[in-house]
Amino acid sequence: MSDTPIQPASTTATGPATDAPPVIPPTATGTTTQATMVKKTAPKSDYKPADVSPQRRVQRSYSVRLWSIRHSRLLEWVYARFADTFLTLHPLWKAIGYGRVEAPVKFVEKRVKGFMFDCRMCGQCILSSTGMSCPMNCPKQLRNGPCGGVRANGNCEVEPDIPCVWVKAWEGSRNMVKGDAILNVQNPVDQSLRETSAWLRVTAQAAAAREQARSASPPGATA
Ligand code: SF4
Repeated sequence: MSDTPIQPASTTATGPATDAPPVIPPTATGTTTQATMVKKTAPKSDYKPADVSPQRRVQRSYSVRLWSIRHSRLLEWVYARFADTFLTLHPLWKAIGYGRVEAPVKFVEKRVKGFMFDCRMCGQCILSSTGMSCPMNCPKQLRNGPCGGVRANGNCEVEPDIPCVWVKAWEGSRNMVKGDAILNVQNPVDQSLRETSAWLRVTAQAAAAREQARSASPPGATA
């Protein structure tokens, strides 16, 4: 095997540019995102997946998701009434057993929220803090705001044909009475709570807080 001749790094119209800095390809500047560069440098093969985008798979339901964000104020009101009703039913859930009601409640929750918000059943719902835009639909599943790759038109870095979940979250939050909750820092998602009912969890937590407040109040005081 012969040695490969060493090529000059670059040339100019006036001859070899021996001391010139390395040439940066035009694609590495401007609007090219990190995801595009990673795709371009990925090893090439004959296998081209038909559709690996979860967003595209659910594109038909995407218009419903956008409707929910546009009507975030209405849904905020509806959810508050719904949460109150669930809390009122706490004695019933407790009598039956939260464990026993979980399966039917989860069945309904998954379908209703799946249709309305494209819910991924993370079990720790923060829709009321994110303008009714589910952060688990972010390809990076970010729960505290957008990444640095949002495109100039507000679309996602990874899914260029879809608006950034967090851009829509901000828009939705501006319509809500408690929209500033979007500024709250969220805990990292607890993956062990996936596929569990956020409705029941929030209800049980609210009931426990209510009972704690009652037991802490002085005797004779009424709510
Ligand atoms: S935040 Fe979690 S529970 Fe709420 S809609 Fe999104 S995936 Fe579902």
